[in-house]
Amino acid sequence: MTSSYHNIDVPFDYRHTCWFCGEPYFDSHAFMAVPNYDNQTLPIMLPCCQECFSFANGLKVSSLDLLRDKVKQQLHKKYHKHLQIGVNWTKEELESSEMDGKALEGFRISGWKMFEIAKDRVNYSGWPIYIDGLPCYDVTTTFQFEYDGIIYTSLNHAVTQLAALYAIPQPYLEQVIELVGREKMTYALRFCKTTYGYSPAERESSLASLRALLAEEQANALASQHSTTAQRDIALADIKELMLYRTMISPHAIHWALSRGIQTLAELAEYEEVFFEHFGKESELTAFTYFNGLQIYFEKRELEPLWAQNDDPNRALFQ
Ligand SMILES: [Zn+2]
Repeated sequence: MTSSYHNIDVPFDYRHTCWFCGEPYFDSHAFMAVPNYDNQTLPIMLPCCQECFSFANGLKVSSLDLLRDKVKQQLHKKYHKHLQIGVNWTKEELESSEMDGKALEGFRISGWKMFEIAKDRVNYSGWPIYIDGLPCYDVTTTFQFEYDGIIYTSLNHAVTQLAALYAIPQPYLEQVIELVGREKMTYALRFCKTTYGYSPAERESSLASLRALLAEEQANALASQHSTTAQRDIALADIKELMLYRTMISPHAIHWALSRGIQTLAELAEYEEVFFEHFGKESELTAFTYFNGLQIYFEKRELEPLWAQNDDPNRALFQ
Protein backbone atom coordinates (compact mmCIF):
# COMPACT_ATOMS: atom_id res chain seq x y z
CA MET A 1 0.00 0.00 0.00
CA THR A 2 1.38 3.40 -0.83
CA SER A 3 0.36 6.50 0.99
CA SER A 4 1.45 10.08 0.73
CA TYR A 5 2.66 10.36 4.31
CA HIS A 6 4.16 8.40 7.22
CA ASN A 7 2.25 8.02 10.45
CA ILE A 8 4.52 7.53 13.42
CA ASP A 9 3.78 4.54 15.64
CA VAL A 10 1.91 5.49 18.79
CA PRO A 11 2.44 3.19 21.81
CA PHE A 12 -0.75 2.16 23.57
CA ASP A 13 -0.12 4.35 26.60
CA TYR A 14 0.29 7.40 24.42
CA ARG A 15 -2.83 7.13 22.32
CA HIS A 16 -4.65 10.42 21.87
CA THR A 17 -1.83 12.51 23.22
CA CYS A 18 0.42 15.21 21.83
CA TRP A 19 3.95 14.02 20.96
CA PHE A 20 5.38 17.40 21.99
CA CYS A 21 3.74 18.06 25.33
CA GLY A 22 1.51 15.15 26.36
CA GLU A 23 -1.77 17.11 26.23
CA PRO A 24 -4.87 15.57 24.58
CA TYR A 25 -4.70 14.98 20.82
CA PHE A 26 -6.19 17.50 18.43
CA ASP A 27 -4.71 16.92 14.97
CA SER A 28 -1.52 15.71 13.31
CA HIS A 29 1.17 17.99 12.05
CA ALA A 30 2.68 16.91 8.72
CA PHE A 31 6.40 17.42 9.22
CA MET A 32 8.50 18.04 6.14
CA ALA A 33 12.10 19.23 6.58
CA VAL A 34 12.91 22.67 5.17
CA PRO A 35 15.68 22.82 4.01
CA ASN A 36 15.53 19.10 3.28
CA TYR A 37 19.14 18.08 3.98
CA ASP A 38 18.31 14.42 4.64
CA ASN A 39 16.24 13.93 1.49
CA GLN A 40 13.05 13.22 3.36
CA THR A 41 10.54 11.86 0.85
CA LEU A 42 7.21 11.89 2.70
CA PRO A 43 5.77 14.04 5.47
CA ILE A 44 5.92 12.48 8.93
CA MET A 45 2.62 12.80 10.79
CA LEU A 46 3.04 13.87 14.42
CA PRO A 47 0.09 13.80 16.83
CA CYS A 48 -0.43 17.24 18.37
CA CYS A 49 -2.60 19.04 20.85
CA GLN A 50 -4.31 22.14 19.54
CA GLU A 51 -1.63 24.50 20.74
CA CYS A 52 1.41 22.54 19.57
CA PHE A 53 -0.38 21.95 16.26
CA SER A 54 -0.59 25.66 15.62
CA PHE A 55 2.97 26.24 16.81
CA ALA A 56 4.31 23.46 14.58
CA ASN A 57 2.37 24.59 11.53
CA GLY A 58 4.04 27.98 11.68
CA LEU A 59 7.56 26.53 11.65
CA LYS A 60 9.96 25.67 8.86
CA VAL A 61 12.95 23.70 10.18
CA SER A 62 15.38 21.13 8.84
CA SER A 63 14.93 18.42 11.47
CA LEU A 64 12.55 16.92 13.98
CA ASP A 65 14.86 17.88 16.85
CA LEU A 66 14.64 21.49 15.82
CA LEU A 67 10.90 21.30 15.37
CA ARG A 68 10.51 19.89 18.89
CA ASP A 69 12.86 22.54 20.29
CA LYS A 70 11.03 25.40 18.60
CA VAL A 71 7.66 24.14 19.79
CA LYS A 72 9.04 23.80 23.32
CA GLN A 73 10.44 27.31 23.16
CA GLN A 74 7.05 28.65 22.20
CA LEU A 75 5.51 26.79 25.11
CA HIS A 76 8.12 28.28 27.42
CA LYS A 77 7.39 31.72 26.07
CA LYS A 78 3.64 31.45 26.27
CA TYR A 79 3.64 29.99 29.78
CA HIS A 80 6.60 31.80 31.28
CA LYS A 81 4.36 33.41 33.89
CA HIS A 82 3.13 30.01 34.99
CA LEU A 83 6.64 28.59 35.07
CA GLN A 84 7.70 31.55 37.15
CA ILE A 85 5.29 30.57 39.89
CA GLY A 86 7.55 27.67 40.76
CA VAL A 87 10.52 29.99 40.94
CA ASN A 88 8.87 32.51 43.20
CA TRP A 89 6.96 30.17 45.48
CA THR A 90 7.03 26.73 46.93
CA LYS A 91 3.79 24.77 47.03
CA GLU A 92 3.55 25.17 50.80
CA GLU A 93 4.19 28.89 50.76
CA LEU A 94 1.56 29.41 48.15
CA GLU A 95 -1.04 27.36 50.00
CA SER A 96 -0.41 29.06 53.30
CA SER A 97 -0.06 32.57 51.91
CA GLU A 98 -2.72 34.97 52.97
CA MET A 99 -3.95 36.54 49.83
CA ASP A 100 -6.97 38.70 49.89
CA GLY A 101 -9.36 39.55 47.14
CA LYS A 102 -11.07 37.25 44.71
CA ALA A 103 -8.46 37.31 41.95
CA LEU A 104 -5.62 36.63 44.34
CA GLU A 105 -7.48 33.86 46.05
CA GLY A 106 -8.01 32.23 42.68
CA PHE A 107 -4.31 32.47 42.07
CA ARG A 108 -3.55 30.91 45.41
CA ILE A 109 -5.76 27.93 44.70
CA SER A 110 -4.85 27.36 41.07
CA GLY A 111 -1.36 28.85 40.87
CA TRP A 112 0.57 25.74 41.75
CA LYS A 113 -1.56 23.64 39.43
CA MET A 114 -0.87 26.02 36.56
CA PHE A 115 2.84 25.81 37.30
CA GLU A 116 2.78 22.02 37.35
CA ILE A 117 0.87 21.75 34.10
CA ALA A 118 3.24 24.15 32.33
CA LYS A 119 6.26 22.37 33.76
CA ASP A 120 5.02 18.93 32.73
CA ARG A 121 4.37 20.18 29.21
CA VAL A 122 7.77 21.78 28.63
CA ASN A 123 9.53 18.81 30.25
CA TYR A 124 7.55 16.18 28.36
CA SER A 125 9.83 14.04 26.24
CA GLY A 126 7.46 12.40 23.76
CA TRP A 127 8.19 8.83 22.70
CA PRO A 128 10.78 7.37 20.29
CA ILE A 129 9.88 7.85 16.65
CA TYR A 130 9.10 4.53 14.94
CA ILE A 131 7.38 4.01 11.64
CA ASP A 132 5.87 0.59 10.92
CA GLY A 133 7.78 -0.88 13.84
CA LEU A 134 11.16 0.42 12.74
CA PRO A 135 13.11 3.14 14.51
CA CYS A 136 13.44 5.88 11.98
CA TYR A 137 14.54 9.00 13.67
CA ASP A 138 16.83 9.49 16.62
CA VAL A 139 15.57 12.62 18.31
CA THR A 140 18.44 13.93 20.35
CA THR A 141 18.23 15.35 23.85
CA THR A 142 21.98 16.01 24.07
CA PHE A 143 21.70 19.76 24.03
CA GLN A 144 18.93 20.05 26.58
CA PHE A 145 19.68 21.84 29.78
CA GLU A 146 17.84 21.29 33.05
CA TYR A 147 17.67 23.89 35.73
CA ASP A 148 15.50 23.86 38.83
CA GLY A 149 13.45 20.94 37.52
CA ILE A 150 12.64 22.59 34.21
CA ILE A 151 14.08 21.42 30.91
CA TYR A 152 15.26 23.99 28.40
CA THR A 153 16.06 23.14 24.79
CA SER A 154 19.66 24.29 25.22
CA LEU A 155 21.95 26.16 27.57
CA ASN A 156 21.43 29.21 25.43
CA HIS A 157 17.67 28.90 25.77
CA ALA A 158 17.98 28.58 29.55
CA VAL A 159 20.20 31.63 29.74
CA THR A 160 17.79 33.70 27.67
CA GLN A 161 14.81 32.67 29.81
CA LEU A 162 16.53 32.98 33.16
CA ALA A 163 18.14 36.31 32.34
CA ALA A 164 14.71 37.68 31.46
CA LEU A 165 13.16 36.12 34.54
CA TYR A 166 15.65 37.67 36.94
CA ALA A 167 16.07 40.91 35.01
CA ILE A 168 19.78 40.27 34.48
CA PRO A 169 21.41 41.54 31.28
CA GLN A 170 21.80 38.39 29.18
CA PRO A 171 25.40 39.02 28.01
CA TYR A 172 26.38 39.46 31.64
CA LEU A 173 24.84 36.15 32.72
CA GLU A 174 26.59 34.53 29.76
CA GLN A 175 29.96 35.89 30.86
CA VAL A 176 29.47 34.70 34.42
CA ILE A 177 28.48 31.20 33.30
CA GLU A 178 31.51 31.07 31.07
CA LEU A 179 33.64 31.68 34.15
CA VAL A 180 31.93 29.41 36.65
CA GLY A 181 30.81 26.65 34.26
CA ARG A 182 27.34 25.54 33.13
CA GLU A 183 26.93 23.18 36.11
CA LYS A 184 26.86 26.17 38.41
CA MET A 185 23.79 27.98 37.16
CA THR A 186 22.49 28.63 40.68
CA TYR A 187 25.79 30.19 41.67
CA ALA A 188 25.89 32.24 38.46
CA LEU A 189 22.37 33.54 38.99
CA ARG A 190 23.02 34.40 42.61
CA PHE A 191 26.20 36.20 41.66
CA CYS A 192 24.44 38.20 38.95
CA LYS A 193 21.53 39.06 41.21
CA THR A 194 23.81 40.44 43.89
CA THR A 195 25.93 42.38 41.43
CA TYR A 196 25.99 46.00 42.35
CA GLY A 197 24.77 47.73 39.23
CA TYR A 198 24.91 46.65 35.61
CA SER A 199 26.76 49.50 33.93
CA PRO A 200 29.65 48.28 31.74
CA ALA A 201 32.20 49.46 34.31
CA GLU A 202 30.34 47.88 37.24
CA ARG A 203 29.96 44.62 35.36
CA GLU A 204 33.62 44.57 34.43
CA SER A 205 34.69 45.11 38.01
CA SER A 206 32.34 42.39 39.28
CA LEU A 207 33.71 39.99 36.69
CA ALA A 208 37.26 40.84 37.74
CA SER A 209 36.50 40.08 41.37
CA LEU A 210 34.78 36.85 40.35
CA ARG A 211 37.87 35.81 38.39
CA ALA A 212 40.05 36.53 41.41
CA LEU A 213 37.70 34.63 43.71
CA LEU A 214 37.67 31.59 41.43
CA ALA A 215 41.46 31.62 41.11
CA GLU A 216 41.75 31.74 44.88
CA GLU A 217 39.26 28.90 45.34
CA GLN A 218 41.15 26.81 42.83
CA ALA A 219 44.45 27.54 44.52
CA ASN A 220 43.01 26.66 47.92
CA ALA A 221 41.61 23.44 46.57
CA LEU A 222 44.99 22.52 45.10
CA ALA A 223 46.77 23.51 48.26
CA SER A 224 44.51 21.47 50.52
CA GLN A 225 44.76 18.56 48.11
CA HIS A 226 48.51 18.77 48.39
CA SER A 227 48.58 19.37 52.10
CA THR A 228 46.81 16.12 52.76
CA THR A 229 49.10 14.10 50.54
CA ALA A 230 52.45 15.78 50.56
CA GLN A 231 52.91 18.25 53.36
CA ARG A 232 56.23 17.66 55.06
CA ASP A 233 57.93 18.99 58.12
CA ILE A 234 61.16 20.52 56.99
CA ALA A 235 63.18 22.95 59.09
CA LEU A 236 64.25 26.12 57.40
CA ALA A 237 67.65 25.76 59.06
CA ASP A 238 68.25 22.50 57.22
CA ILE A 239 68.03 24.20 53.87
CA LYS A 240 71.20 25.47 52.28
CA GLU A 241 71.26 28.65 50.32
CA LEU A 242 72.79 28.29 46.90
CA MET A 243 73.87 30.42 44.00
CA LEU A 244 73.14 29.31 40.45
CA TYR A 245 74.00 31.34 37.37
CA ARG A 246 74.58 34.42 39.52
CA THR A 247 71.14 34.02 41.02
CA MET A 248 70.64 33.52 44.72
CA ILE A 249 68.15 30.75 45.45
CA SER A 250 66.39 31.72 48.66
CA PRO A 251 66.09 29.07 51.39
CA HIS A 252 62.68 30.59 52.17
CA ALA A 253 61.46 29.80 48.69
CA ILE A 254 62.94 26.29 48.76
CA HIS A 255 61.39 25.73 52.17
CA TRP A 256 58.02 26.90 50.94
CA ALA A 257 58.13 24.48 48.01
CA LEU A 258 59.56 21.40 49.71
CA SER A 259 57.27 21.61 52.71
CA ARG A 260 54.36 21.53 50.25
CA GLY A 261 55.77 18.57 48.36
CA ILE A 262 56.54 20.75 45.33
CA GLN A 263 59.71 19.47 43.69
CA THR A 264 59.42 19.98 39.95
CA LEU A 265 58.97 22.84 37.51
CA ALA A 266 55.57 21.50 36.52
CA GLU A 267 54.37 21.38 40.11
CA LEU A 268 55.75 24.83 40.73
CA ALA A 269 53.87 26.19 37.72
CA GLU A 270 50.68 24.71 39.12
CA TYR A 271 51.22 26.63 42.36
CA GLU A 272 52.42 29.88 40.87
CA GLU A 273 49.40 31.82 42.08
CA VAL A 274 49.59 30.38 45.58
CA PHE A 275 53.26 31.24 45.65
CA PHE A 276 52.72 34.86 44.70
CA GLU A 277 49.87 35.11 47.12
CA HIS A 278 52.18 33.93 49.90
CA PHE A 279 55.31 35.96 49.17
CA GLY A 280 53.57 38.86 47.46
CA LYS A 281 52.40 40.00 50.88
CA GLU A 282 55.95 41.07 51.69
CA SER A 283 56.67 42.59 48.35
CA GLU A 284 55.99 41.88 44.72
CA LEU A 285 59.69 42.08 43.95
CA THR A 286 60.61 39.57 46.65
CA ALA A 287 57.98 37.17 45.35
CA PHE A 288 59.23 37.54 41.84
CA THR A 289 62.90 37.09 42.79
CA TYR A 290 62.13 34.03 44.90
CA PHE A 291 60.00 32.48 42.19
CA ASN A 292 62.58 33.13 39.51
CA GLY A 293 65.26 31.54 41.71
CA LEU A 294 63.15 28.45 42.35
CA GLN A 295 62.53 28.05 38.64
CA ILE A 296 66.26 28.17 37.93
CA TYR A 297 66.90 25.69 40.73
CA PHE A 298 64.28 23.17 39.67
CA GLU A 299 65.21 23.50 36.04
CA LYS A 300 68.86 22.72 36.80
CA ARG A 301 67.81 19.68 38.82
CA GLU A 302 65.75 18.43 35.89
CA LEU A 303 68.33 19.14 33.23
CA GLU A 304 71.26 17.82 35.23
CA PRO A 305 70.12 14.76 37.15
CA LEU A 306 73.68 13.86 38.09
CA TRP A 307 74.17 17.21 39.71
CA ALA A 308 70.83 16.82 41.46
CA GLN A 309 71.85 13.41 42.74
CA ASN A 310 75.40 14.15 43.84
CA ASP A 311 76.10 17.85 44.16
CA ASP A 312 72.93 19.66 45.10
CA PRO A 313 73.54 20.73 48.71
CA ASN A 314 69.86 20.09 49.46
CA ARG A 315 69.71 16.73 47.67
CA ALA A 316 68.85 14.87 50.88
CA LEU A 317 65.60 16.85 51.16
CA PHE A 318 64.27 15.84 47.77
CA GLN A 319 62.35 12.60 47.68
ZN1 LIG B 1 1.09 19.82 22.73
